[in-house]
Amino acid sequence: MKIILINPPIYDFSAYDVWLKPLGILYLSNILKNYNFEVFLLDCLDRNYFEELPAKQDGTGKFPSKIIPKPEILKNIPINYRRYGIDENKIKNFLFNHQDANYVVITSSMTYWYQAIKEIVDFVKQILPKSKIFLGGNYPILLPLHAEKTFADKVDLIFKRSFFYELLEYLNIENIKKYNYFKNFPSPDYSYYKKVYYIVTRFSYGCFYNCDYCASKSITAKYENKEINKFIEEIKFLSFSTGSKNIVFYDDALFNHKNIDLIKKLFKEISKLDLKLKFYTPNGINPKFIDRELAILMKELNFLDPRLSLETISDLTHSKVDKKITLKEFEYGLENLLYAGYKPQEISVYILAGLSTETVEDVYNSINYISRYNLRIRLCELSIVPKTKLFYKLGLDESIDPLLYNNSIFLFNGIPGKIPAWCSYDEFVKLKDYVRELNSKKKMVEHV
Ligand code: SF4
Repeated sequence: MKIILINPPIYDFSAYDVWLKPLGILYLSNILKNYNFEVFLLDCLDRNYFEELPAKQDGTGKFPSKIIPKPEILKNIPINYRRYGIDENKIKNFLFNHQDANYVVITSSMTYWYQAIKEIVDFVKQILPKSKIFLGGNYPILLPLHAEKTFADKVDLIFKRSFFYELLEYLNIENIKKYNYFKNFPSPDYSYYKKVYYIVTRFSYGCFYNCDYCASKSITAKYENKEINKFIEEIKFLSFSTGSKNIVFYDDALFNHKNIDLIKKLFKEISKLDLKLKFYTPNGINPKFIDRELAILMKELNFLDPRLSLETISDLTHSKVDKKITLKEFEYGLENLLYAGYKPQEISVYILAGLSTETVEDVYNSINYISRYNLRIRLCELSIVPKTKLFYKLGLDESIDPLLYNNSIFLFNGIPGKIPAWCSYDEFVKLKDYVRELNSKKKMVEHV
């Protein structure tokens, strides 16, 4: 049986390869290979699919892109809409070379990227009319009714509860119950990539918090981690087999109140490997768990560009929307990182703009406060994630087109007829320019 796994391109106002890999289907690939399926993968966001595109030292870089027409509902947005990823002909060529595939499994990520899935589905139906097409990933889990309405007549099955489990069940695979547990996942399969600038993997899934704006709980109900020895073997294997030294933790909450001793043990074991690896986390880490010992271990491990989750300096806002940190707790973790030898400009802080409990002025206050430490600001524009507490508090439902949830537009566009804009377009641009200007004044550190 032959299975093709596809990660679609992106249609958006902006996108950048900040360690974007379709980790779910990379795990799935090795699971299916273990059951003797013939598996092929097409990652439409692979920057080196045909030619090597430049990358920064941390492996991040630009996707190839082109301007495309805006969907009707976005026609008044004053920003270009683009298609990011490998071009259509390369996708078609890949499919022509695999016309004997029995199944095509398409994954998905952001709900507001669903239109790129249509492109893939149309190509597959045209070139592989006899293959069964399955749709999985975050989009149908978070918006099952919308996915059903949009794709039910185009694909054979939509996995709306659990991507892996439903697929493996359909394929009649024995012993699938073990894949209900993350500890039993194999390592992700990077064998399809000609050049690997970075390795994305996870030590854990899930989070103990349930912040208003995050869907972690809806996607993974419980926190789970891999065994340390198994994870160390995974890192060793992936680094040797790909030649990459950049390891990216995709964990939702790498540090939490239950796992700090375990994380310290993990970092100590990785340090012993002496592989000269570099570590990153695109998802912010909670600074309140960074004591002196952990900060020193992070420094020794070569944990670069620590990205601290703060979102706002207002304890009042935290008490309303996430209850995950206070300003004092943030300062505690920061002090420990500085004590361990990190320079301020090596540390960045996530600030969230767009919460209804805050004004534009509040966001400037947070930015200015953090900036006094000479830290780098990473401004996150709020996007609406279905099945979050925020989604329900705002009275949203699946009848609304998720294209409107895009973080590039939500702040100044709102949801027309339902939720007013949080700020004007000019204020939005000014805020982003302000952060860019502040960051450019800080001497950024290049990591060799
Ligand atoms: S935002 Fe972070 S801390 Fe909050 S629920 Fe999501 S993963 Fe957990």
